[in-house]
Amino acid sequence: MEMEQLVALCKRRGFLFQSSEIYGGLNGFWDYGPLGVELKRNIREAWWRDMVTAHNELEVPSGAPSAYEMTGVDCTIIMHPQVWKCSGHYDLFHDMMQTCRQCKKLFRADHIGEMLKESEWVNSLATAMSFGPHDKLLKVDGAALMKWAKTKGKKVAPGLALVRKPEVTLSWLAEHVAKDPNTPLTIAELLQYIATEQLNVTGPQIPCPLCGGDLTEPREFNLMFETYTGAMRDDNNKTFLRPETAQGIFVNFKNVLDSTRVKIPFGIAQIGKSFRNEITPRNFTFRSREFEQMEIEFFCHPSTSHAWYKYWRDLRYKWYVDLGLASDRLRLRDHTKEELSHYSCGTADIEYAFPFLPPGEFGELEGVAHRGDFDLRSHMEGKLVHSGESLVVELDAEGKPRYRGSGKDLTYFDDQTREKYIPHVIEPSAGADRAALAYLCEAYSEDEAPDENGVPVKRVFLKFHPRLAPIKAAVFPLVKKDGMPEIAKEIYCSLKPHLNVFYDEKGAVGRRYRRQDEVGTPFCITVDGQTLQDGTVTIRDRDTLKQWRVKKEDCLSEIKERLKT
Ligand code: ATP
Repeated sequence: MEMEQLVALCKRRGFLFQSSEIYGGLNGFWDYGPLGVELKRNIREAWWRDMVTAHNELEVPSGAPSAYEMTGVDCTIIMHPQVWKCSGHYDLFHDMMQTCRQCKKLFRADHIGEMLKESEWVNSLATAMSFGPHDKLLKVDGAALMKWAKTKGKKVAPGLALVRKPEVTLSWLAEHVAKDPNTPLTIAELLQYIATEQLNVTGPQIPCPLCGGDLTEPREFNLMFETYTGAMRDDNNKTFLRPETAQGIFVNFKNVLDSTRVKIPFGIAQIGKSFRNEITPRNFTFRSREFEQMEIEFFCHPSTSHAWYKYWRDLRYKWYVDLGLASDRLRLRDHTKEELSHYSCGTADIEYAFPFLPPGEFGELEGVAHRGDFDLRSHMEGKLVHSGESLVVELDAEGKPRYRGSGKDLTYFDDQTREKYIPHVIEPSAGADRAALAYLCEAYSEDEAPDENGVPVKRVFLKFHPRLAPIKAAVFPLVKKDGMPEIAKEIYCSLKPHLNVFYDEKGAVGRRYRRQDEVGTPFCITVDGQTLQDGTVTIRDRDTLKQWRVKKEDCLSEIKERLKT
């Protein structure tokens, strides 16, 4: 599937629109349309139901070390600024970014390589020079480079040094090649030479993926959106839009313990918006600046934490599989030692091979992390840093905590064993928007099906799991006469209180089926001539195109039964 086809379908059928589109859109922000909102709600509801409300604390689930309880919270987006200072987000939550000196656009340093491969001007240059992305060049054709610079290059890469000052750039290149005529030049090296105006002063430059201009050195950039609470816009009133929902759970740990009878092990779940001022939002909704997270903080005794980590990792992976993500595009990947965050004793990512990524590459859907006692300790004692093998409170020049914790006791007292300890935490942290995007990508299907006249034509359909499908069933009268609409409306009204169903009587029935296939409606119920005689209707399956008859009174039970799969 080409990503463009899915993006076009999402817009055409009302799944996703660019935010503020009539004003030209706002980069990194997306709106869910009438069908998208249903899809995302179904994902959220499936998650909440499967993880929280349908979880049975009286039984030991398969693979779990013991029975456990689950509960939830819904916290504010803006929290006390000290939360982010103690959690480390204030000091550590940043990306390295580079700015283009020519077009002034910002880029995340670790995204530039990938963006250059996809860049319009790099591809134009590669075509003109007839080289592939992995070729090594022994000979550089200066005349062809000059020709490209003066024609195509002017349009697609106006900031590139080769375009602005071709003679200078080509002289650096010639000098380099003359120095070492037998060593081939990589494409990356060639791109750097043609992006460099003053090699002796600056060294080789990395070009801007958009205009070819030279990029500044990487600089740190904090991803948290800032705002002010109250009338005064000074540093004392500066607050942040949360970059994750997790901290709301940690700071309410004591409240939940004191207001319920939960006992360790237990988990607290939260679904809500998070905000990150991503430098290069891209790949449709994959990297947005406003997005929704579905997070669980699971509190357990340190001695069982590894077993719980494994349990959650496997359970969360299975959740995606059960809702229809095919196993070969989905994978569970354990982080290497180098990748682990400073506090984590184990992290695994659940990843999906999104079609916009190069073959063999995967994007993160969810991270499952063993966080030890880092978070609860930070909110008790203050911001923690590593000192050898252990975590200690970071001190300022005067030997005082750099960021003071709450000072509240966030330990847990087990009244049976009489043990007091700081629980360890397992955190499955998922993104609702990335899940929605993965389910959309996975659902997109094409086949051939006969049209009204029996001629096979291409059919586009979204093969959503029935639990996720925005519309569960559509009800049609075959034709708009002979009392068929009346019966169809009766069926529709009987289903409506129970399911999101859709009524349609306009146009040829084949076209109506196709419109429902295209938005992933699993079942279509049709009232036809036979209904008038024996009171039965046809039900058509979106994926197999099979049709069968049921009594019109049995539509609800039939659809409900099939939605369970
Ligand atoms: P990435 O490495 O892709 O930036 P991350 O490791 O920073 O992601 P986490 O902090 O672990 O992400 O956040 C948990 C989940 O939140 C991610 O797995 C993802 O599903 C979602 N998420 C994070 N950032 C974004 C974003 N910018 N847009 C959409 N979803 C996001």
